[in-house]
Amino acid sequence: MAEASRTTTPEVTLDEVVALCKRRGFIFQASEIYGGLASTYDYGHYGVLLKNSVKSEWWRAMVGERDDIVALDSAILQHPRVWEASGHLEGFTDPLVDCRTCKLRFRADDLENAQCGRKPSRHPGEHTECDLTDPRQFNLMFKTHMGPVEEEAAVAYLRPETAQGIFINFKNVLQFARRKPPFGIAQVGKSFRNEITPGNFVFRTREFEQMEMEYFVPPAEADGWFEYWLGERERWYRELGIRPDHLRLRQHPSEELSHYSSATSDIEYLFPIGWSELEGIANRGDFDLTQHAEFSGEKLEYFDQDKGEAYVPHVIEPAAGADRAALAFIVDAYDTEEVEGRKRTVLRLHPRLAPVKAAVLPLVSKAGMPERAREIYEDVRSRVPSEYDEGGSIGRRYRRQDEIGTPWGITVDGQTLEDGTVTLRDRDSLEQERVPAGEIGDLLAAKLAEPWRSPKLG
Ligand code: ATP
Repeated sequence: MAEASRTTTPEVTLDEVVALCKRRGFIFQASEIYGGLASTYDYGHYGVLLKNSVKSEWWRAMVGERDDIVALDSAILQHPRVWEASGHLEGFTDPLVDCRTCKLRFRADDLENAQCGRKPSRHPGEHTECDLTDPRQFNLMFKTHMGPVEEEAAVAYLRPETAQGIFINFKNVLQFARRKPPFGIAQVGKSFRNEITPGNFVFRTREFEQMEMEYFVPPAEADGWFEYWLGERERWYRELGIRPDHLRLRQHPSEELSHYSSATSDIEYLFPIGWSELEGIANRGDFDLTQHAEFSGEKLEYFDQDKGEAYVPHVIEPAAGADRAALAFIVDAYDTEEVEGRKRTVLRLHPRLAPVKAAVLPLVSKAGMPERAREIYEDVRSRVPSEYDEGGSIGRRYRRQDEIGTPWGITVDGQTLEDGTVTLRDRDSLEQERVPAGEIGDLLAAKLAEPWRSPKLG
């Protein structure tokens, strides 16, 4: 194949990402056949595979490659006292204003980014007809009832973060996992926030998945571990291919810090909507364990045998969003170029994140090629997640694989039937080489383990 004449790609827009996600079955509007439910999304086949890859890379970095962090999967519904102790019942609020004229609701602290319902488009409060109420605090927790009776005593909340499930299991883990600080507990799962202004696709939704880890440390070591986790988490995104110039750290000024935090920094990504939080890393001190100890009456501390004293560990928390991370990986990977006069859209995903690693394609669906391709496919997929596709022209099938980010295409052609070799096509360079079919599985498994750098960096 001739060298692709590369054109520089302008940064992708959110609309282009949404269109690709729909076209290729990554993410759909939820309840679409009923007109859609605002800011909720369903993940299709490739979206599930991509988000699973993101989560499994997170598990790998947190648990698989270390000895000091254990896994947990706590319930979404917890005792209501959990949210009293954590401060969520009292303080997990955003200031809300209503417009009596257009009936829309806005976050009082974000009016400069909101749009009034009237034309021409202005910020809320800027039209003469605007009639905004005073701000009132709106709790972001979803309230529900346990059991058949909708009474006050049966009130329960969908968790607004996974972290509290970790704190209330501190004692269990200490006993059964036989850990001592510094050690961590990691959890991935759904969280729910009744956001006043969700939006920007899966960036901010009311139901989303979090990947949170609470790292319990001796108090004197907290500052050092905070810096350590900032570095580790930024490295995770970079090693999975995010371009370094699209990542930055933002330290929260003291007036922005949550009630429990002595230091917080966000890892931000340059999304099409501008620099926005991808992950927050907080030094939570001993706030959570102390609160839960007080509210539950259980001792939540660690007894240091060497020193003969008990102490409440401090907590460093890297808290990421699986949906937001998946969105950032798609945005960062999205690329278009002209190849021999034709536009090609390609997701240059890190191979370990790609939903499908290899596609096995018979050049044409006759002359024994599909049968041979199927055999090769059975072999390859036992080594790396793969897909078989024989429908339509080879060009169309490549384009489809490019758009879902499949790094390697394996084509079975007439020569395969003669000498047993296949062509191996590289998604990014478009180079093709002939490789004996029997070696493909080993070759791809080895490639998958190699360090990787985004070809968008040139
Ligand atoms: P934001 O400032 O964007 O509301 P936050 O600081 O409240 O986020 P955290 O409580 O620190 O967020 O949650 C950790 C991570 O969970 C965020 O960095 C983000 O990736 C993800 N997250 C939080 N809220 C949402 C949401 N409504 N939709 C999707 N992901 C979210």
